[in-house]
Amino acid sequence: MDVGRIVTFKPFASSARMRELMAGYFRDLNRAALEGRPKIAWCSSVGPAELLLSLGYAVFYPENHAAMLGATREARKTIPVANAAGYSPDICSYLTSDIGAYLRRETPLSKVYPEIVTVPRPDVLVYNNVQCRDVQEWFSWYGREFAVPVLGVATPRNIAAITPELLAGIAGQIRALVPPLEKIAGRRFDIDRLRAVMSLSRDGSEMWKRVLEANRVRPAPLSFFDAAVHMGPAVVLRGTEEVLAYYRVLLREVEGRVARGEGAVEGERFRLYWEGMPIWGKLRDLAEFFIGLRTNIVASTYCNSWIFESGDLADPFLDLARSSAGLFIAWDEDAKERYLRDMAETYGVHGFIFHDAKTCPHNSNNRYGLPGRLEKATGIPTLTIHGDVNDLRCYSEDQTRTAIEAFIERLEEG
Ligand code: SF4
Repeated sequence: MDVGRIVTFKPFASSARMRELMAGYFRDLNRAALEGRPKIAWCSSVGPAELLLSLGYAVFYPENHAAMLGATREARKTIPVANAAGYSPDICSYLTSDIGAYLRRETPLSKVYPEIVTVPRPDVLVYNNVQCRDVQEWFSWYGREFAVPVLGVATPRNIAAITPELLAGIAGQIRALVPPLEKIAGRRFDIDRLRAVMSLSRDGSEMWKRVLEANRVRPAPLSFFDAAVHMGPAVVLRGTEEVLAYYRVLLREVEGRVARGEGAVEGERFRLYWEGMPIWGKLRDLAEFFIGLRTNIVASTYCNSWIFESGDLADPFLDLARSSAGLFIAWDEDAKERYLRDMAETYGVHGFIFHDAKTCPHNSNNRYGLPGRLEKATGIPTLTIHGDVNDLRCYSEDQTRTAIEAFIERLEEG
């Protein structure tokens, strides 16, 4: 295969604004921790962040922190520390890298913002276990460590259909969080404030969706690897004006590329879909590798996970429940297959890559025959690669590159 190895990264000018936004977010959190106000809530990525924001909490997302540990490869040092403390190498490496970093009294934030010496001490931890049990165990560890309350929402998984009963059950649990959260915040809950935060959050999510959907054209203006970085504000700043403004700016830049016929990968030959978690410590290496193959990963379930399903806000708790149950990770195999078929058509993909993340079975969707069923139904080839979100001991660079090259050869042969 002679496709050349011309690696041409095309950074987005908006990245500078994103860095400013993220810096402001982390510095505000650090200030809140030092001054003791506003109160700080740690929240799982799914939320219910909007409820916490409406009550005035500064919100910190441990999953985002864990991804930083993976991307900076600090996780290599921190995972073994959590393993030694009794947390198995087989469980979520977000959990082990994050707890290990805390035990080492380290945070990757210090490298970028020297005034931040530690993660902000929580006043409360709030999780939604829609994604997995690990997030609950992770937050419970910190609850014991800081002697603060841990509150949770239990969302059913393997959902075949989103029914009113299902939504009512989740909404009831979220509503039940209000009294303890009011008490910790020292502030009364205001349903209109929640609606306002949710409205902003939905607008931001919609703008993020428009950014991702720009990739329907050929050549695609951004790659999965760009999107995995640019989704930072969608994760940690949702429900704010800044995030909406940021995605407007990014969208303009992306649309400029579309208008000029400029792809993220020069000479785009193949368009792939990434299913599963990123391999954070190899993001850049893989991005360059795919550029060399003139192949772009044009869509992913991961980056789409921050597009939240939404209805009207008459009952905002019901709408928060809809976001939770509307997540791909919560669905059964048939619903997942339908979604992936739809994505393949929308983005015109030539192949699917499934990432089997060793320590994240919950978000490794290759394990119950889905790639085979998908391939049979669509005729689109699939490839499973083995790795992990943060634990690079589970990843073989040589094997992965060989497998991807063989896959591209298969696509070339048609
Ligand atoms: S979904 Fe996977 S990566 Fe995320 S917290 Fe659960 S096990 Fe960890």
